[in-house]
Amino acid sequence: MQVIQVEPLVSARGLRGPFDYARPEGCDVGSVVEVPFGRQKLRGVVTGLVETSEHQLKAPTAVSDVSLPAELVRLALWMADDIVSTRARCLELLLPPEGVGERTRFWADPARPVPDSERRGADLDSEDPYAGVRLTANQRAALDRLPDWAGDDLPTLRRLEARGLVAIEARAHARRPDHVDIGALHGDGRQAPPLNPDQALAVERLAAAEPGDRLLLHGVTGSGKTEVYLQAAERVIASGKAVLVLVPEIALTPQTVARFRRRLGETVAVLHSGLSKGERRDEWWRLRTGQARICVGPMSTVFAPADDVGLIIVDEEHDPAYKHDGDPRYDARRVAAWRAREAGAVLLVGSATPRPESWAALRRISLPSRADGGELPQVRLIDVRGTRDALHPDVHRALADARKAIVLLNRRGWATWVECADCGHVWECPNCDVSLVLHGGRRGDVHDFDPGSAAHGRLRCHHCGHQEAPPTRCGSCGSVSVGQHGLGTEQLADDLPGHVFRLDADVRDRSGVLERFGAADHGILVGTQMIAKGHDFPDVELGVVVDADATLRFPDFRAQERTFQLVAQLAGRAGRGSGIGGGRAQVVVQTRNPEESSLLLAARHDAHGFLVEELERRKALGFPPFATIVRVMVEHEREDRVTAAAEELRRRMPPETRGPIPVFRRQNRFRRQLEIKARHRAATVHAVRGAVESIVGAPAARGLTLAIEVDPR
Ligand code: ADP
Ligand code: ZN
Ligand code: ZN
Repeated sequence: MQVIQVEPLVSARGLRGPFDYARPEGCDVGSVVEVPFGRQKLRGVVTGLVETSEHQLKAPTAVSDVSLPAELVRLALWMADDIVSTRARCLELLLPPEGVGERTRFWADPARPVPDSERRGADLDSEDPYAGVRLTANQRAALDRLPDWAGDDLPTLRRLEARGLVAIEARAHARRPDHVDIGALHGDGRQAPPLNPDQALAVERLAAAEPGDRLLLHGVTGSGKTEVYLQAAERVIASGKAVLVLVPEIALTPQTVARFRRRLGETVAVLHSGLSKGERRDEWWRLRTGQARICVGPMSTVFAPADDVGLIIVDEEHDPAYKHDGDPRYDARRVAAWRAREAGAVLLVGSATPRPESWAALRRISLPSRADGGELPQVRLIDVRGTRDALHPDVHRALADARKAIVLLNRRGWATWVECADCGHVWECPNCDVSLVLHGGRRGDVHDFDPGSAAHGRLRCHHCGHQEAPPTRCGSCGSVSVGQHGLGTEQLADDLPGHVFRLDADVRDRSGVLERFGAADHGILVGTQMIAKGHDFPDVELGVVVDADATLRFPDFRAQERTFQLVAQLAGRAGRGSGIGGGRAQVVVQTRNPEESSLLLAARHDAHGFLVEELERRKALGFPPFATIVRVMVEHEREDRVTAAAEELRRRMPPETRGPIPVFRRQNRFRRQLEIKARHRAATVHAVRGAVESIVGAPAARGLTLAIEVDPR
């Protein structure tokens, strides 16, 4: 009897496969199956085959038509080991969304006109095509989504069909998510522009790259890296291989996706969370069946089910968004490198501000000047020690002179904390040890606020979602003098004159804001660091960093790297387009550390100088890439339990472990962190895994959450 080894897709760390089952016809590594397990049936993935077994084995109860390429199964197993996660959680990442039907789908189109029998005395001039039609909320929502694939709620549509309101049809072929505005297939940009000599050389070097080569495209902002990606991708596609293109966040880089779609057309698939489940599943199948040969999208694109990948591109490779925040805590850049090596593909990462890790390890191709021939903007550091206002007078003047400007402040909300002027009491979250942030506030003393009015804002916790009305008096001393402190993006946006656009995590329609700012003739875009990411707006004349020290204050070995990147990337947004000479564009950086080397080097656009210096510093201090950092966060509702457990775990960890270090309480859970900085990655990861697994079943670990993070971002 032939045997399949099945890894059940269950989240518990305790249940570890694989388990053996009899192999049905056509079942192979990567097949998704349903297997009997005790009294239950579990979904699982075939991770291996064994020739024979002496035991009598059960057979799967079902074999899905979804199957993963064997290469991706290997990837998941490697990843689980590499980041101390479970195989099930890593395999789960690779599968298309469930529960939206198989390959034959139903499509619904609205019936036009709506049958008269359905109208009940409606105003026929109404713009609403369903005016006067009796509809439940579900039916209304389903109709509003049309013409979209509607398999998510077939029963509702069947009822609408019976009333003649929609026509339903089964189709074997996938519908493209064109209605999601991520890149029209028409318009400019279908033709490749003639490359400048630096770009041409870069494309040539990529064409000459050997399977398994790893390259860094270091191009200053606006140097035309995307054009190099496009031409390299075109060539790989023409040779019959597939291409993966990773971008940090799709809502913030719609232009990159749009450019791929326009140039390369239908062969481009897009996978991201803005698509409906059905659309994602369709795109997944287009890749799996080879109809689509390029996948463009955020970090999860690295798991695209394409066969025979020839090139993996990671755009803006310095972006921390490539490190997954939740479980499993994978780094898409590391996974991309592994997948490229296994597939014999070329890895190409690109950035104007590469990570020291990439600078040290990869072969470099450089694009030293802007594609439009413009100059990089002039960057000026302004010492704001002694300035009390949020913005230096020079900044006010520059803003008044600039037609379009971008202003960066890395704190969202109105005011960062609220404090009693008499006793110093600070309003904190009841669930977390952090101060509450005032959102939707207004000028003046908090005690003038009417707590019942939403117009006067809410105090919000940025860690757990707690909110409350702002105080009218101090609960500790009774004072009515309650002040708001710390400037946030909301208040700054309110302070600035003229047409102001705000962009931060509280803004829903981020790509809409970017679009409107791009189209505007004048105005100021204010926001958190997401405004410094990858957009290509012509004619921004001024960039302002309100508080360049915010990243420097962060107690982390990446503080200098972050600071350099932020200033250099913001500078990259200014002075683009032929409308203005780069000479007229400028960037102003407010700081209380005007001697700080990362700022001085960013002001000179000297990435090379910064990276050389930063790598020396990291080498001297033994930080990555000269070491691997592994952290374990231990959490429990009770402080005594977390302390005891962290101490116990510490004893089981390698001797060089530091900690337990207390970390602020979050969501009612006390936290302690253990950290190792070690030269040998594999051995260290192995030792941490052993220590954690040894404690998981122990009584000391009851109610405990343990989160392991290898290479924290
Ligand atoms: P980067 O990704 O390096 O920041 P982009 O690829 O966005 O730069 O290019 C910056 C601008 O220069 C874009 O508007 C792009 O269309 C334009 N561009 C790129 N290459 C060329 C070229 N060879 N000739 C003319 N314009 C170009
Ligand atoms: Zn008080
Ligand atoms: Zn909280």
